[in-house]
Amino acid sequence: MPDSTEGRPLAGKVALVTGASRGIGRAIALRLAADGAAVAVNYATSPDRADDVVAAIAAAGGRAVAVRADVGDPEAVDRLFDVVERDLGRVDVLVNNAGIHRGGRIDALAIADFDAVVRTSLGATFLCARRAVPLMRAAGWGRIVSISSPAAVRAFPGDVAYGAAKAAQLGLTRCLAAEVAGDGITVNAVLPGFVETDMTASLSDRSRAHIARSIPVGRSADPAEIAAGVAFLAAPASAYITGTVLPVDGGIVL
Ligand code: NAP
Repeated sequence: MPDSTEGRPLAGKVALVTGASRGIGRAIALRLAADGAAVAVNYATSPDRADDVVAAIAAAGGRAVAVRADVGDPEAVDRLFDVVERDLGRVDVLVNNAGIHRGGRIDALAIADFDAVVRTSLGATFLCARRAVPLMRAAGWGRIVSISSPAAVRAFPGDVAYGAAKAAQLGLTRCLAAEVAGDGITVNAVLPGFVETDMTASLSDRSRAHIARSIPVGRSADPAEIAAGVAFLAAPASAYITGTVLPVDGGIVL
């Protein structure tokens, strides 16, 4: 009998990817589906783009559903998990990818922008992990991967909100990893470098050139390269890796 799970390390698993309608999250959803997982494609405002991701996964022979939820909203996250459990039965892999960027130096950054950034990166990671852990614990297996940023570990003037949220997300990752290490659940982060997405599209040519000069590998990342890092940590073979950060950044944080 041929092994139907060969080359598909996540066969039989269910993955929830937040913010999977576009950019890095889209690439993660496609990659985890290619690795055999059924995927919940979460989005906030882009139903058509989420449907495109679901259609691409279905066209490749996989299974996916699109689920709308603002992952910074506790009630919406409860509904999100209820729908994923109803439609896909479980959550084995949670990827906390949704994020927004609002820049501004300390005296120019609106309180509402600070709150929105913290709520969407850090708050959502807490809310989703809080719902995922009991499901994973009951299954005796789980993977939580959060998408970090160079701003979590390096200084970028104008990134006080984004850098604070991303740094705190790493603190959550380490503490949660220690909490659930005995339950078969690993908790890690992937730290992407510079990726051409809608989030980075508004950067000026000057900023873009400055960033390009700071990447030792000499180019931006393909979203699929970030997804490969997530897939590595999500795989059963990575059971002994927890509480850590995997840079997929072309050396930008060196
Ligand atoms: P993006 O292209 O702007 O896409 C953001 C995604 O997040 C979209 O799918 C969006 O959904 C979703 N989203 C935003 N707010 C949400 C909310 N409240 N609830 C649910 N979904 C929400 O961003 P990206 O560049 O792919 O970034 C993805 C992650 O990587 C972020 O955490 C970002 O901080 C991180 N990152 C990016 C880079 C980079 O260079 N691009 C570098 C390091 C880290 P809708 O389409 O429905 O709005």
